[in-house]
Amino acid sequence: MSDQIRISAKNLGELALPKSCPRCFWIKLRVQNRLPYQIFPGIFSSIDAYSKRLVHAWFDRERAAPPWLSALGEVTGYRQPPHFSKFNIVDRETNILLTGNPDGVFLRADGSNVIVDYKTAKYTETQDELYPMYETQLNAYALIGNQRGLAPVTGLALLYTEPLTDDSAAAKEDNQLADGFSLKFVARVFDVPIKLNMISPLLARTREISEKSSPPLGRSDCRDCALLADLLGVASM
Ligand code: SF4
Repeated sequence: MSDQIRISAKNLGELALPKSCPRCFWIKLRVQNRLPYQIFPGIFSSIDAYSKRLVHAWFDRERAAPPWLSALGEVTGYRQPPHFSKFNIVDRETNILLTGNPDGVFLRADGSNVIVDYKTAKYTETQDELYPMYETQLNAYALIGNQRGLAPVTGLALLYTEPLTDDSAAAKEDNQLADGFSLKFVARVFDVPIKLNMISPLLARTREISEKSSPPLGRSDCRDCALLADLLGVASM
């Protein structure tokens, strides 16, 4: 059996994107996703964490879900997701350790669980393009959750919180404070169907790409590798 590979649910999701690049994927696997020049502003994860605290505070105070979560059906409470160090499974077929770190878990009256992922973003066409990645990520969480303390997982959802940044919001007196300003967010819930069968072929593809001894060819429609080859004065990358 080949050496064990570790991959996160989110990184696995990149393989499901129509524009997924096997070369990029191979490189990321080799460097454990620690690429240079990757700067991700921390503000988004701070807002995601704040959204989660707000939802939990509402549950604690009202003993019910916030109205904007009604699209999830009846959820009766929340639970802290398992610690990421325990939220993983090994796929025996491929010897891949699949890891996850769910943002939130809600409880249904029948004791089943709904796993959610918070997204601080406007729901735009770009987000739509990323949907296959998010769908894979959540389904990988469901697969892991069913074996690591969240069984049964009966729902998955993306919770978008969109900042209201238009002119009328900026002009509102309520939003202009002496010591700064307020920024309102509008929440939208997107149900994600449970399709656990989608994970196994992606794990097999991960193993197939990782076994290559040199990086596979990149996407023909991506010019970045060609630009880098030009910069370095080599024929191709
Ligand atoms: S072709 Fe584009 S996406 Fe693929 S490795 Fe090169 S830069 Fe990355």
